Amino acid sequence: MPSHTSPTSPNSPTSPSSPDSSQPAVTVLGLGLMGTALAAALLRAGHPTTVWNRTKSKTGPLAAQGATPADTPAEAITASPLILVCLTTYDDVTELLHPHTTTLAGRTLVNVTNGTPVEARKFAAWADEHGIAYVDGGIMAVPQMIATPAGYILYSGDQQAYESHRPTLAALGGTRWTGTDPGLAALYDLSLLTGMYGMVMGMAQSFALIRSQDISAREFAPLLADWVTAMTNNLVPGTAEAIDSGEHVTDVASLAVNQAAFPNLLATFADQGVRTELFEPMRQLLDRSIAEGHADDGLSRLAELLRAVPEA
Ligand code: NDP
Repeated sequence: MPSHTSPTSPNSPTSPSSPDSSQPAVTVLGLGLMGTALAAALLRAGHPTTVWNRTKSKTGPLAAQGATPADTPAEAITASPLILVCLTTYDDVTELLHPHTTTLAGRTLVNVTNGTPVEARKFAAWADEHGIAYVDGGIMAVPQMIATPAGYILYSGDQQAYESHRPTLAALGGTRWTGTDPGLAALYDLSLLTGMYGMVMGMAQSFALIRSQDISAREFAPLLADWVTAMTNNLVPGTAEAIDSGEHVTDVASLAVNQAAFPNLLATFADQGVRTELFEPMRQLLDRSIAEGHADDGLSRLAELLRAVPEA
């Protein structure tokens, strides 16, 4: 697993702090909910922090905490050797930074905007062409988790730049290096988000079903949380083991038994007046697993069946 360091500062309420001139300076471009949390964490750790945002009024609260607001992106970039950018999309980052290649040259750009591995690699190639050290980042936290033990950021790309700025980046929470392929942080990020969305969608369906009987969501919540946690702890390691070894035959619960029981879910959704659109594709996948001869395998086989190009 990639290396991991613990966060170095708590996400406590902010108070005005004077920057520590012995700490490296940082610039944060983009002060939405996340960029603001990142800049506030850097300020709490004592870093002289320059901030810029398209809508200037968002610099106010950070200036009150000791940040230096910049009037233009160029002024903000010039202020620090390390530039952190956190906008909505990579297209926004492209629009913002492409006119500033000369100013960025010789600096390190850490882009924690959510994007795809393809976008990250494209951005890294552009940075390389212009002498900018590029590190891509994937934030595994909501703003409230920044600089707490619960949050961390995945990094990939220019390893030398990452290592030299790692003490600064640690002010934002845990740091996890994923590799020199700049697309890897986004790949890890999106793989983790995929698991989260699967869970969130399953939770939505679960609450819709229990509520169809007028049982309160609050009453049901502890049961659901305990069940999902127990299943996650139980299934994730075993599934990974089966996938890596290619040994999918199970003595826990076969695809045949899951495929036989799954229609009970869909029938009950229909009986209780709950829509089936989320779960129909899952039934089709289970049906395919049996049709393709995997009746004795466990659920781990599904990861193979979901690959667009089967492994040779
Ligand atoms: P917000 O919507 O709160 O902020 C978006 C920011 O992007 C604002 O500062 C906005 O400026 C700026 N922006 C958008 N388009 C442009 C542009 N064309 N030029 C300049 N600035 C632009 O989003 P978040 O802060 O929540 O999210 C930022 C990134 O962090 C996203 O990629 C998101 O996926 C990622 N992320 C967010 C998490 C979260 O929990 N919030 C969790 C993990 C990742 P302006 O204020 O002027 O509109």
